[in-house]
Amino acid sequence: QPTQIHNFSAGPAVLPKVVLQQAASEMLDWHGSGMSVMEMSHRGPEFISIYKQAEADLRELLAVPPNYKILFMQGGGLAQNAIIPMNLAGCCGQPATIDFIHTGTWSGKSIKEAKRYANVNIAASGEAGGFTSVPPQDTWRLTPGAAYLHICTNETIDGVEYNFVPKVDPRLPIVADMSSHILSRTIDVSQYGLIFAGAQKNIGPAGLTIVIVRDDLLEDALPDCPSAFHYKTVAEHESMFNTPPTYAIYIAGLVFAHLKAQGGVAAMEQRNIEKARLLYEALDADDFYQNRVALDCRSRMNIPFFLRDESLNEQFLAGAKARGLLQLKGHKSVGGMRASIYNAMPLEGVQALVDYLNEFAGR
Ligand code: PMP
Repeated sequence: QPTQIHNFSAGPAVLPKVVLQQAASEMLDWHGSGMSVMEMSHRGPEFISIYKQAEADLRELLAVPPNYKILFMQGGGLAQNAIIPMNLAGCCGQPATIDFIHTGTWSGKSIKEAKRYANVNIAASGEAGGFTSVPPQDTWRLTPGAAYLHICTNETIDGVEYNFVPKVDPRLPIVADMSSHILSRTIDVSQYGLIFAGAQKNIGPAGLTIVIVRDDLLEDALPDCPSAFHYKTVAEHESMFNTPPTYAIYIAGLVFAHLKAQGGVAAMEQRNIEKARLLYEALDADDFYQNRVALDCRSRMNIPFFLRDESLNEQFLAGAKARGLLQLKGHKSVGGMRASIYNAMPLEGVQALVDYLNEFAGR
């Protein structure tokens, strides 16, 4: 058995060990309450204090302006693909148009779902290039009067990340799926109308979805939008219209506090730049390994790569596992390998992977 395990899963993914240790120590009795967080009423003073602290810490970490609500929802990223058009595409009483930039699997799924609620315009697509880059903004064909522009700022499977914020007419809200890189780099929330993220990568357990939405976008829901998914209703009830995923919010809160103690998002970004540099350098050393993403669009979080000789894939994975390097197999739709190196992946984990890459390549 290897002494040290490093988990490169794309999600659910590695969490900070100290957070898991704290959760373990508080499992049966949270702060002398005599209850586990799992057993508390979501309306009781104990859980309300956990919720308020988590919200305040996330607001601080991302410098969320006061005219944005932070919602703690359920349903994951895929549910948001329907919930967003149901909430934002109801203006004018006629079918709205939504602009999309198609950069990979996850924006592709968003496009497919949105077609059930609105007209969809694919303003630009990276498909012809095999989803290896973000189409440059001067090639985008946006629709005048579109309800919003949807982008996936980090494609978890394709390993393609935006290195810019689109410059658009200020009346066009940008909706960003940040599921796999939220809190990994500083962002200017005011540039976006809505940001969403499933928690199970950089935030906490699956089952919690974070939505950050500008106040003026709460007014245009379609009439048949379900109440539990109606942003305005959820906001008015401070995410307690129905029972929120309380334990997941508690763990997320521990992660937020931990990030603050580590120096916040700017400090995480510096570490993430260094971790990604180290890994790409090893992959680029010669043509034994291959990452196909354009240099300026390479994700710092999700790094897909291929062995030039794919007949060695199983041997590569078995050797990795024997060294405690887990969950490196690529997504089934693209094959190859993928290393996800979220905030909670320590530099030593990346170094251990790099050492193995070099050893396996026989360098
Ligand atoms: N968007 C992105 C960028 C993702 O990586 C994922 C999950 N891997 C999703 C959406 C879907 O999230 P969920 O499975 O929580 O619905």
